[in-house]
Amino acid sequence: MPAIAIHGGAGTIPAAALNPAATDAHHASLRAALAAGWAILVKGGAALDAVTAAVMALEDDPLFNAGHGAVFTSGGTLEMDAGIMAGRTRQAGAVAGICGPKNPILAARAVMEHSGTVLMAGQGAMDFLREQRLEFMGADYFTTKRRLDALHLELARRASGAPDTRSDADRHGTVGAVARDIEGDLAAATSTGGMTAKRPGRVGDTPIIGAGTFADNASCAISTTGTGEVFIRYSAAAEISARIRHAGQTLEQAASTVIAELATHGGDGGLIAIGPAGPPVLPFNSNGMYRGFVNEDGVFHTAIHREAYRPA
Ligand code: ASP
Repeated sequence: MPAIAIHGGAGTIPAAALNPAATDAHHASLRAALAAGWAILVKGGAALDAVTAAVMALEDDPLFNAGHGAVFTSGGTLEMDAGIMAGRTRQAGAVAGICGPKNPILAARAVMEHSGTVLMAGQGAMDFLREQRLEFMGADYFTTKRRLDALHLELARRASGAPDTRSDADRHGTVGAVARDIEGDLAAATSTGGMTAKRPGRVGDTPIIGAGTFADNASCAISTTGTGEVFIRYSAAAEISARIRHAGQTLEQAASTVIAELATHGGDGGLIAIGPAGPPVLPFNSNGMYRGFVNEDGVFHTAIHREAYRPA
């Protein structure tokens, strides 16, 4: 039976600073992204198409750190990462450090379907993506005042030597989706601008298959968000799959154990995961994680911090 989960990143605005209008706006955006994916699943469409549609909706939304609204590097540039994987074939595609395609997740999917490779970066990636006739946008399309302000504040803080007291929302964020379709196929997709004021050239966990993005019909599909370096070093998504396959853990046990372990190594964040049966799980060790899911009953649920889910 179909189900879908999405996240808009662990870089949440603190609960005390999120006024009712902003809270409602985030819930509405999460619901719209869920609706984009769910509409495909209920018609019998593929999990791969559902996660692509949900992530595109989140990339187009300036509230989240991906596509339009991505964060800046310390050099004032935009360098986006994205990854996608199909659980039946274990085909995967990813792009690192790109700026141009309006929807980086479509760039990752083009790599998966048409490049004969898994991960592309640099000029060769851009040339390939232009050949694929993806829609390209200038830097001004991706740029938002909020993200520029966050960059300037962080650069000023570094110059002054003051301690880092930024909120999660000013540090990072990501968007992602996992889904199971009527055929039982799983898929995962993740897209991000990365960490605010990251070193130019830095690549996070999002496009690293087995770290930030992973799908395997026999175990799970996963999309992560958080301090990417730690998620890479502990192979976060692959570790969850391995625990299910080799240690007999449930999806819930494996996902929550790994998120707790990452916290002990400085890995703040969370993930969304779905298995061959049962509801998605959405554990996080951070203050919050913009998130939502639709299970087999078709009821939409969205949440931001540790409050109860809002049904819609
Ligand atoms: N994981 C992302 C990265 O390291 C950031 C995030 O999810 O907040 O690029």
